[in-house]
Amino acid sequence: MTIINPPPINPNSPIQGNPIDENKTLIAKEIAQKARESLSNYCINICGAKCCKVGKLLLQTNQEVETISGVEHIGKFIEDKTLERTQNGFMTYNLEKEPCRHLKENVFCSIHKSDKKPIICNDYPLFLTKKYVIASQQCPAVVGGELNTYIKEIKKLGYKEF
Ligand code: SF4
Ligand code: SF4
Repeated sequence: MTIINPPPINPNSPIQGNPIDENKTLIAKEIAQKARESLSNYCINICGAKCCKVGKLLLQTNQEVETISGVEHIGKFIEDKTLERTQNGFMTYNLEKEPCRHLKENVFCSIHKSDKKPIICNDYPLFLTKKYVIASQQCPAVVGGELNTYIKEIKKLGYKEF
């Protein structure tokens, strides 16, 4: 499932500082993935896929824009500002008018296992940059503390919470 608003910081921003060493980065990525997977029950039965219905989806490649918009609708979506370019050259897709077209039965992502699923959907609600761990405060599971144990483990590796 996934995302919605653009990540709070630009991964290329100088505030990232020195990267954590490679081994710790790998461990942190594994922990972050376990954290996301731990939410599947919460996402379906408690939250109801809020992040596929609310906010703006950050799209980082043309392929992602085509997947989320549908090639035939891109021009219309640019015109009505559903699709907008960000300052750093990415696109956002506004979900406020209607939920993502890949959302099925109100809670399931029909492209969950596809390599066409946007990166942001795979990462949400927990992001790792070179030095920071960032949990989206728009996700009710994060706000409810569901990921606290995982975030603590990642911080032990040297990451700072942003
Ligand atoms: S592609 Fe899937 S995970 Fe991403 S917003 Fe759409 S339904 Fe949600
Ligand atoms: S709990 Fe968070 S990650 Fe899960 S569906 Fe809701 S907003 Fe998305």
